[in-house]
Order: sequence, then C-alpha cells, then structure tokens
Amino acid sequence: MKFLDEADLKVRSGDGGKGIVAWRKEKFVPKGGPSGGDGGDGGSVYVEADENLYTLMDLSHSKHVYAEDGEPGGRREQTGATGEDVTIRVPPGTVVKDRHTGETIGEVVESGQRITVAEGGAGGRGNAFFKSSTNQAPRHAEPGEEGEERELTFELKLMADVGLVGFPNAGKSTLVSSVSAAEPETADYPFTTLTPQLGMVYVSEFETFVMADIPGIIEEAHTGKGLGLQFLRHIERTSVLLFVIPITSSALGEEYEQLIHELESYEADLLDKPRVIALSKVDVLAPDERTLLPDVVADEFPDDVPILPISAVADIGLDQLKYTLYETVESTRSAEAIEA
Ligand code: GDP
Ligand code: MG
Repeated sequence: MKFLDEADLKVRSGDGGKGIVAWRKEKFVPKGGPSGGDGGDGGSVYVEADENLYTLMDLSHSKHVYAEDGEPGGRREQTGATGEDVTIRVPPGTVVKDRHTGETIGEVVESGQRITVAEGGAGGRGNAFFKSSTNQAPRHAEPGEEGEERELTFELKLMADVGLVGFPNAGKSTLVSSVSAAEPETADYPFTTLTPQLGMVYVSEFETFVMADIPGIIEEAHTGKGLGLQFLRHIERTSVLLFVIPITSSALGEEYEQLIHELESYEADLLDKPRVIALSKVDVLAPDERTLLPDVVADEFPDDVPILPISAVADIGLDQLKYTLYETVESTRSAEAIEA
C-alpha cells in the first residue's frame, strides 16, 4: 500500500539572449568602437516548498512549465532583459525525480526551501565584450546558451490527517470511498484510484485533507500482529481521529469505550489527539428517529467530542462531517504552525 501522491511535469528554462555586433556612432568618427551588448540570461525553473499546500493536485492541471527566454543585447552596450523565472510551488516533503532515469534531482523539506530544476541559459556576449588591446574592432558576438528541458516526476509521501478508528464492518471503507469520490474538477486526478484505503477529501477547491482507513487496527493492532502495527504507526502521525460507530450497534457508548481502550493499550499518546465521532448507517433509522438521535445518544459519549450522524450509503450528514473534520484538522495545523 502506497501513501503516495504523484505528478508529472515537463519543464524548460529560457534560452539566453544573443549578444549583438554593433558600432558606436560618433560625430566626426566614421566608425566608432564596438558597442554590441550582451544578451540577457534565460529564466530558470525552480521548485519551492510552500507550507500552505498539502497535495500535488495543482500540478496535475498543467503538462508543462516554461521560463522566459532572455532578450538579445542592444546597441550602446545595453544588456538584454533577463527572462522571467518560474517557481513551481509544492508541499514540503516533495521529492523531484527525473522521469526517465528515476534519479532524484532534489527534495524540498522546509517551507521556503527552493531548488533549481532547470537553469536558464546564459546570455551571449556582445562584441563590445571582446574588445582588447590587440583587437580594437571585434566583429563577433556569442549566441545565447540554450535553456534545458527536463521531464520531471514529483512525489509526495502523504500524511493522513484523519485516521479512522472502528471495529470491522463499522462502515469505514465505505465512508472513505464516498467522501473521497471523484468530484467533477478532480475526476482526472489519479490519486483516489491509486490508493483506495487513503482518500483525498475536498471540502472546496483549496480546502483538502487526507483520510486514511486503517484496516485491522482493532483486531490485531495492539498485539502487534499482521498489518495492524504498521498502520498504527501511521495513525500516530495523523492529527485527528475519527471514531466510526454504527448506529446498529447494541451498545454505542460501550463500543466507543472499547475503542478508546484498544488505542490506549497500544499508545496512550493517541488519546491526546482531537476526536470526532461518526454514528454511521443512520439510513436504517426512520427520518424522525434520526432527528432525535443526537439527544438520545448524548449521555453515552463525552461532552467535548462532536457527534455526527452519517450515512455513507445514503449521503446523509457527509458534508457536515467533512466540514467538521476539516475545521479540526485546520486548527491542529495552525497549532503546529505556532509551535514551530
Ligand atoms: P469497515 O469494515 O469498517 O471498512 O466497513 P465497510 O465499509 O466494509 O462496511 C461494512 C458493511 O456495512 C458493508 O456491508 C456495507 O455495505 C455496510 N455499510 C457501510 N456503510 C453503510 C451505511 O451508511 N448504511 C448502511 N445501511 N450500510 C452501510
Ligand atoms: Mg474496511
């Protein structure tokens, strides 16, 4: 199972502008000295980490990125304008590789860190540059250096923001697939199909978080058997825990306590994470029972944990759940930002 977000992009830096051959025009001097200016450097392509980004989704909107060419030099020793650089912004932790060789070109870890992925071509030198004591009237100038073109693959190891906790059949997998189902503008984003247990949830275009269904957490996890432990390691890094408890359970509060106990016996620190409770499968209730639900169950759960009735199958309460989770994830992110 891969927790990986990937995007391909072709980049090209700008060509350097050419240097030119020109001569000074002076009154009374038929042919003045050399005055051809240098070409401007071509723009470079950079990759920079930006802490406000969490996915590579933005990169999937474009196929290539080109920096600008430098301008040719001018008369009177004027240097041509430098081509504009392009900076590709990615989430911290993104690795950039050569798409064909697989070789790692670099990685941006800290926000603001920047690497060059295609260096702009140097501008050519104009004939004024070549003037010397032995050559007062050089007749040549250099062409600009060509920019470079590279095909890149960007990779980001995703951290799940929300980890699901629940017994088997609670409806965890169904929930992940229904909240992360492709939306029109994201339908071409291959992510959700690559990793079915991990869902990218879009609250809006710029508000996203990653939800991970962690199979086997309860049955095997705290005894260290099977996949459980590996997944628990992952859940340790999530910022919010979503408890999924089906309304069909005979003892809701008890089930919650059991889940808490299981987590605690693995790693007590997990209980420091903010929690949200989703009461799943409420479509089995009659509509008026659903309305009464929060009051009916209120005394089964702690007061400070949001309780949201949902149905992944009938699409009930999912928007509210996404919004609540996003808000909780965001407040954890900003608390972390303040700490750092
Ligand atoms: P998991 O083991 O927690 O991942 O649970 P699954 O998502 O695999 O769901 C277990 C069973 O519950 C499946 O038969 C699902 O079809 C059913 N289920 C999941 N969500 C809902 C729901 O919202 N309503 C109803 N009625 N059944 C659901
Ligand atoms: Mg499952």
